[in-house]
Amino acid sequence: MAEQKGIFLAGVYRIGKEKIPIRVCRWFKGRGRLGRNWGGWYEEGMEIVHVSSELAEAAKAGGLADVVSGLAKAQLRAGHLVDIILPRYDCLQWDHLTKLEQLKGVLDLGMDQERLEVLAWRAQLGPLSLTLLDLKGAAHYFSRGVIYGERDDIDRFTAFSKAAVLYLTQKKRAPDLLHIHDWPCAAIAPLAKQARLKSAIVLTIHNLQHQGKGDLFHLRRLGLEAVAAKMQDPHSSHLINLLKGGIEYADAVTTVSPTYEKEIQTPLGGFGLDALLVQHKKKLSGILNGIDTAYWNPETDPLIQAHYPAFPHIDPKSFAKVLKGKMENRRALQKECGLAQEERPVVAAVTRMVFQKGPELILYAMERTVELGGQFILLSSLPEGHLQVQFDAARKTLPQNSVHICFSYREALAHLIYAGADMLTLPSLFEPCGLTQMIAMRYSSVPIVRKTGGLADTVFDVETSDHGAKERNGFTFDFPDRAGVHWALDRALKMWGENKKKWQQLMQSGAACDFSWDHSEPLYHELYKKVCKATRAPF
Ligand code: ADP
Repeated sequence: MAEQKGIFLAGVYRIGKEKIPIRVCRWFKGRGRLGRNWGGWYEEGMEIVHVSSELAEAAKAGGLADVVSGLAKAQLRAGHLVDIILPRYDCLQWDHLTKLEQLKGVLDLGMDQERLEVLAWRAQLGPLSLTLLDLKGAAHYFSRGVIYGERDDIDRFTAFSKAAVLYLTQKKRAPDLLHIHDWPCAAIAPLAKQARLKSAIVLTIHNLQHQGKGDLFHLRRLGLEAVAAKMQDPHSSHLINLLKGGIEYADAVTTVSPTYEKEIQTPLGGFGLDALLVQHKKKLSGILNGIDTAYWNPETDPLIQAHYPAFPHIDPKSFAKVLKGKMENRRALQKECGLAQEERPVVAAVTRMVFQKGPELILYAMERTVELGGQFILLSSLPEGHLQVQFDAARKTLPQNSVHICFSYREALAHLIYAGADMLTLPSLFEPCGLTQMIAMRYSSVPIVRKTGGLADTVFDVETSDHGAKERNGFTFDFPDRAGVHWALDRALKMWGENKKKWQQLMQSGAACDFSWDHSEPLYHELYKKVCKATRAPF
């Protein structure tokens, strides 16, 4: 495989009599990683490789895509060298990719009797450098027109994980830090350790519910029979559990919010891995996700009707522009969704339609909103059949000019909803972090959420929170039942109708929250440095 060209420099920096060693500084394609602090110790950027099954604007199914993209961009801004390894799905958003070139050479994956060849491409996605890996074989793993949802997903992503490790071991120098995401890439941790890849490994759990359970065949196929005990599912001895293997072998494990970190160590939130996570408590940390504030920006968003100010330009003077902008977007949204163009509160949900998101409660929120005179928009992807039936039934009974249900993935409509809706609801049964509540607040919409996981870390109830008055930014409820939704939704719609001043204050407190990656990227950097030191990876 072709390597990136690099020359290595090292030296000593003198201040008076004091000699300060400059750590090895690598230059790639003329782009040097300059120290930030020439007066003190020279701190070079790290070489970070993310391996993920999703990436925003290339292959997105949910929040994982946004997180990998947002974090990688923040790491680039902080001076690190970042690469993202992704499967070369045939359904990639090819029009967003530039500088696509195939690397020379083919790697043979040598998995059992299956002949699988790895082909690699380099590409750019805006500022992000990507490596796309394709697996050529009879099964056409990544030529199915989908990211997930295939019967052989375990086969597809274990093969991808093996390919990623093989690709990395062919390079002249291992990255300082290998950051792997969720079950599809979790097998990379044991595989990389077995291949003696000299990178520290961080695994992020974006959602513990999905663990990637396979059978012994998968273990053999990966060549990991020697570590069978650590890959074994704790509750079904005949199964292997890829996420468990990742947790066992990664040098650090992160989750996407501090509250979720606590929840997954309990039987209620641990999905069977709570005892293991408690055992590995020392390497576990919860770092709150950010959002890509350049992409999600009502001041510049090309997918909304009217632009209006956002953080840090939110103040009482600019707020009239926010109200005007939101009103124009609301009209455009109502028109787009075939709703009555009236001054009524618009409540929305933008979500994958799965058990975790509380479909029954979303349905209840829809009915209750209509009862209270509001309008409800549901934009939802991946509905399971029986759930779709329930919503289709509701669609028939509820007034058409008050309810719009869209069962598909529509990026542009999602943007218009964040900008045009008054409220966004998330009655999740559990929520590792949740991005939609943060995006909603960035667009001055008010969140109504169940107090769980990252929702509990980002939304503070206007009446009951113990946070200060200025930090209170939405409505929360504790129990995932109809009474909880009823209580929070009724309070929200009442305030919208009867106390405009207080409502606008609430919009402002949400819009004033800084959810950018600038807060979380340094936390990841500190963690990376710690694990590199502990594992004596090259950095
Ligand atoms: P999860 O990762 O559990 O799906 P998150 O709240 O972390 O939930 O992230 C959801 C992301 O996916 C957000 O960027 C949201 O805008 C987007 N999204 C979810 N469903 C849809 C849809 N049907 N159409 C467009 N975007 C969607």
